[in-house]
Amino acid sequence: MSDGTSAPNPWRPISDPLALKHLGKLAEELGEASAAVARCIIQGVDEAEPVTGKVNREWLEDELADVFAAAKLVTQHFGLDQDRMIERRNRKVDQLIAWHQQSVEPTSPPTHAAHAPHVGCDP
Ligand SMILES: [Mg+2]
Repeated sequence: MSDGTSAPNPWRPISDPLALKHLGKLAEELGEASAAVARCIIQGVDEAEPVTGKVNREWLEDELADVFAAAKLVTQHFGLDQDRMIERRNRKVDQLIAWHQQSVEPTSPPTHAAHAPHVGCDP
């Protein structure tokens, strides 16, 4: 724990307006997707928002699409390593499928399922 006498850290926030727009929009879309996911958990995927009548499934689709779009632009803007990201995504899919499998078949060992058709966000 700091006693308040150490030197301040050398970090400097980014100030490039375009970089801020890219990251800010991604953060915003992640928040909107989080809200849509929470609504689906609370009400169900096929229920509708009572005032607007918008079905939660459509809201979730919209916000995930917005996240994919913003993530694609962040990837391009900052020159992130797309091959590395795709490899990690694929490993994560395998890991999550195995984890989900444990929930439906608690006594069977995890299996490595084939990758599902791509519907996600390629960077
Ligand atoms: Mg959105």
